[in-house]
Amino acid sequence: MIHDSLGWWLAEAGPVEPYAPLTEERAADVVVVGGGYTGMWTAWLVRELEPEARVVLVESGICGEGPSGRNGGFVNSMWFSLPSMRPRFGEVGALGVARAAQQAVDEIGAWCEQQGVDAWYRRGGYLQVSTTPAHDGVWEQTVRACEQLGEPDAVRVLSPEEVQERCASPIFRGGAFFPGSATVNPARLSRGLRAKLVEAGVEVYERSRAVSVRAEPGGVVVRTEGGGVVRAGHGVLTAGGALARLKPLRYRMTLTSSHMVITEPVPDVLEELGWTGGECITDGRHMVNYLRTTPDGRIAFGWGGGRVVYGANLRGRAEVDPYITRQVIEHLHRFFPQLRGRRIEHAWGGPIDVSPSHTPVVGTLDGRVHYGFGFTGNGVGPSRMVARALAGLALDRRDEHTRLAIVEQRPIRVPPEPFRYIGGTIVRQALVRREEAEEQNREPDPVTRFIASIPDRIGIQIGR
Ligand SMILES: Cc1cc2nc3c(=O)[nH]c(=O)nc-3n(C[C@H](O)[C@H](O)[C@H](O)COP(=O)(O)OP(=O)(O)OC[C@H]3O[C@@H](n4cnc5c(N)ncnc54)[C@H](O)[C@@H]3O)c2cc1C
Repeated sequence: MIHDSLGWWLAEAGPVEPYAPLTEERAADVVVVGGGYTGMWTAWLVRELEPEARVVLVESGICGEGPSGRNGGFVNSMWFSLPSMRPRFGEVGALGVARAAQQAVDEIGAWCEQQGVDAWYRRGGYLQVSTTPAHDGVWEQTVRACEQLGEPDAVRVLSPEEVQERCASPIFRGGAFFPGSATVNPARLSRGLRAKLVEAGVEVYERSRAVSVRAEPGGVVVRTEGGGVVRAGHGVLTAGGALARLKPLRYRMTLTSSHMVITEPVPDVLEELGWTGGECITDGRHMVNYLRTTPDGRIAFGWGGGRVVYGANLRGRAEVDPYITRQVIEHLHRFFPQLRGRRIEHAWGGPIDVSPSHTPVVGTLDGRVHYGFGFTGNGVGPSRMVARALAGLALDRRDEHTRLAIVEQRPIRVPPEPFRYIGGTIVRQALVRREEAEEQNREPDPVTRFIASIPDRIGIQIGR
């Protein structure tokens, strides 16, 4: 098994030559810092809204080789976030975000089609299943909220038999099906975006880490490591977890990690399971297990229970963690015992930018510097929605996208380090213990129960 930071999808998509770094001074209407999905979609959408706009994107590595090229490839909406968004944003605000997130899923598919980008976009829907009695009905609040807010078709409850028809894992019980979700090969999507941006006239500089971003009267100045300077009307910060290094945003997110493995092609197993509809699946844990198939018959399986990251230390165990990977493989075998003895070809991981409200956060610093982060493990679809809001802000256009409830939302602060790391680690361990007990039909001990309930008590969401 190969175990590295970049993962199978990027290996499958193949290497690219980096674009030249920025070494001189450039002028632009909009400068984007960070070339993951959010930054690349922002650059794309700015040009779509204003084809004459000069857009410069600076990326510290190669665009789309961070989490945007290594994720599970679930292109999800946010219907399952309706219950938590409702009290925070109100019914209209919550519904507006959920509908915009669904629209983003559809738009990504349409974009791939129009641009001829073969990102393996497949609209197979998303299946949330219970694997233990303690998780039966975890979808009920979502189903109720969708019905009450006038979107009853967004999710459908499935009986255990209906779940088995879609995927006959011996541990699956009931479930809920969200027909509007899709999957992609994440790296093919990010490689496709990277290539199309340059074709569309965006100036993309790679190996060009931004070292300072300063608002000045009438504009923004970004300086990069190699001595490059961009002077622009507006700046957009889309550097993912690295934004936790920025003082004003430091207390707005925590960083954890998620780890994945992928099997050799096992089309016989998929056939035996009846899992041929392309559904992406999660269980009902907070520390969610997520799984999907590929067109060549593999199973990609991940766990959102990776370790908490200290500060903004995005490398090391956030990317390659043999201890967590062993647990991911154990989970995979618990879901599908017939995979024991079949080859796991690749393992990898990456950081997750967790927003305490569990919704992405969009806002503006100093009037001309806009930011978007906090996808909490659900960024493939929502990054396009966030990017549309950012593009509007960067062009000074106020519309329904810049008025979404995620824009300039009331901040929830997380504790400073080292308390964030220590507290986060203790809570994570308690959640893992609680969910292990639930899966073995045991009552977790009272201390574990108490610690695992702390985030809810203080209004911070952890995991799912
Ligand atoms: C293992 C794993 C599985 C996941 N599975 C899913 C999934 O199935 N579905 C889903 O929706 N989400 C999933 N996610 C989350 C998803 O990948 C992210 O939410 C999404 O990619 C975020 O995109 P982004 O553009 O905001 O950030 P990133 O992809 O982190 O991009 C930020 C970019 O900024 C660059 N950068 C950082 N600092 C600087 C700087 N100073 N100057 C210039 N550039 C800089 C980085 O190099 C990077 O390329 C998963 C994440 C991981 C790690």
